[in-house]
Amino acid sequence: MSKKPAKKTDRVKRLAVLFWVVGLLLAACMGRAIYLVTANGNEFRHKALAQATGTSTSIAAKPGSILDANGTYLAATKRVYRLILDPKVMAETDEANPGSLDKTAEILSETFSLDIDEVKKAFTENTDSSYLRFGGSSGTILEDEEVEAYKEAVSAFNSEKTTYNAKILAKEIEGTKITAKVSGVWFEEEYRREYPLGDTLSKVIGYTTEDMSEGILGLEKYYSDLIQGVDGKEYKYIDENGKVTTEVVEAEDGLTLQTSLDANVSAILKNAIVKFQEETGGHRINIIVMNPNNGEIIAMESDTEFDLNDPTDLSALFTEEELENPAESFLLQEAFKGRTEELEAMTKEEQLEALLQQVQLNYAVSGTYEPGSTAKALTLATGIEENIIDPEDTFFCDGTIEVEGYSIHCHMDDQCGYLTPMEALGRSCNVCYVQIGQKIGIETFTKYQEIFNLGQKTGIDLPAEANTKNLIYHEDSMQTIDLSTSSFGQSFNVSMIQLASAYASLINGGYYYEPHVVTSVLDSEGNTVEEIEPLLVRRTISEETSEYMREALEYVIEKGTAGYVKIDGYNLLGKTGASEKLPRSEQNYVVSFIGAAPADDPKFLIYATVDEPDVEDQSMSKPAQELVRYCLDDLYAYYGIFPETADDAYSYDWSQLRDSTDSSDAAKGKSFIDDPEGTLRWITDDENLLNRTENTDSEEEEPSQETEDTE
Ligand SMILES: [Zn+2]
Repeated sequence: MSKKPAKKTDRVKRLAVLFWVVGLLLAACMGRAIYLVTANGNEFRHKALAQATGTSTSIAAKPGSILDANGTYLAATKRVYRLILDPKVMAETDEANPGSLDKTAEILSETFSLDIDEVKKAFTENTDSSYLRFGGSSGTILEDEEVEAYKEAVSAFNSEKTTYNAKILAKEIEGTKITAKVSGVWFEEEYRREYPLGDTLSKVIGYTTEDMSEGILGLEKYYSDLIQGVDGKEYKYIDENGKVTTEVVEAEDGLTLQTSLDANVSAILKNAIVKFQEETGGHRINIIVMNPNNGEIIAMESDTEFDLNDPTDLSALFTEEELENPAESFLLQEAFKGRTEELEAMTKEEQLEALLQQVQLNYAVSGTYEPGSTAKALTLATGIEENIIDPEDTFFCDGTIEVEGYSIHCHMDDQCGYLTPMEALGRSCNVCYVQIGQKIGIETFTKYQEIFNLGQKTGIDLPAEANTKNLIYHEDSMQTIDLSTSSFGQSFNVSMIQLASAYASLINGGYYYEPHVVTSVLDSEGNTVEEIEPLLVRRTISEETSEYMREALEYVIEKGTAGYVKIDGYNLLGKTGASEKLPRSEQNYVVSFIGAAPADDPKFLIYATVDEPDVEDQSMSKPAQELVRYCLDDLYAYYGIFPETADDAYSYDWSQLRDSTDSSDAAKGKSFIDDPEGTLRWITDDENLLNRTENTDSEEEEPSQETEDTE
């Protein structure tokens, strides 16, 4: 309501002459201004009291932000303004000062790009109201700069008017005085949650209800109490003199989460997913990148990241046609497997709602699946750590093994011959791992599953972590056949975060860290309130076993099934997986790769899964390797990992693996064989030598990956 003086530079020479004129005008305006303020003030007071039902109103706390490791805002709270009109005041003003409505509507429409007729209509059709949210219940939301632009426009008009009117009064020009006043407009301040990176890390960050009072997903939900802050209160009461008195308890701003997430790494993963979808394609793609040395989560991305600023909009993820038939979608078909009647009985709206839920599910934490061959590394580590398996042992595979009346086959009935445990990992030989598992025995096997935290929650600081307690055999429930299939990753479920955390301990020296996302909590000034240190839960294996595992997992890349993921000159370690989904008859697979680089001192761990890749033979892990390879292209550079010299780099040569198991090595170890009566027994060293087979067929494709035939 106060007037800004006109710019001095233009007017300083005339100021002496015009002083009395301007003075008079100002005095007149001030009188009007005071009147309006009082009138408005009364209106607001009445309104506030009515709203407060005689007691109090809440003052919103400003929620804290969520930051990535580099300080990039993942979630921010922004102050915005609602455009509020006071048509009652406008009507009075326009009567006293003709032209006010037109001028006010003009400035509003110009600064906020609003339809001028709509603005005028809002004023003229609601003259009884002193509080009108322009643009309906959701209103017109304006930002700082927009409100600033409006104030400047009003101030420019006022100074033009003052100058113009002064000139008329001074008879410098002829014309009619401008009476119009900008009036009946105010701005209500509120906070808005904003996600500057849109669909990056959406399932990890999560989002809130529109009023920010409740976290719906992700960190927003898990840390809701910290982020929200505590609302303040404004108490109003009428004192003994009949005066309205106000007492204020200020709001406490929410705390800010500093996370280990890295939006740059997320961008790398997102690009890789896009490229993979263009080149090969598949469903339910998920990638975790974590620091294997302390459990910090660096990124979690999927093929169904949604825009956090518009979390219910599915149009970016599905075509119009797909949204017409949500029941046909892969995600709903999976979610309602075996209950398709239930799905079909739902209305389209219910189906869309269910689809939205599936999209927003953070599969890496909340989903579970049979890990397949990636679990062989845990079996191997168990055997080595307990000295049950010697690295020099050999195991024999003739393509199939009988266990309790079941035939367990190697991939494509491959006859692997004699393999050391490391070679068997390299070839991902089921038959050898059945033998290794049986040698370990049920008691030790289940004990180590527990040590690797399978069947238990990891405790990651994200909501809705999958509970796999009943999706795994325990010592008292496990039979030899279950032990045999569990040894190569079938017949139990893991969540990705479980396996990632277990693998981190395999390669970091045997330290199992609780995976976590938030590293510290800051107050609204940016001061650290709490540091969240990595939590070492337990030792899983010794330094020596871990060193052996790094070597074994590097061998898988250099000479085993994971040759495709390798980029020449870089030392990577890792393991492939292809787990056959139920029902096995459909021959559908989840393929995976979990690895870390550099192999001798891993800086990052990467784990990717692709559900039902769009390839003819899903039982090959190649699509998962392809996806990870796209990520590695950029991750190496981002982590400052440079290629070794060409001499150091192995070249992938599958036939080498076959040749490497010569008879002298084989003679040192012992293996299981299945004898004609169908029972398992140790073979003698002599038998080892006698039965030694020479594998001559050299395959183009990497072999590997299990199939289980249960007869
Ligand atoms: Zn085999």
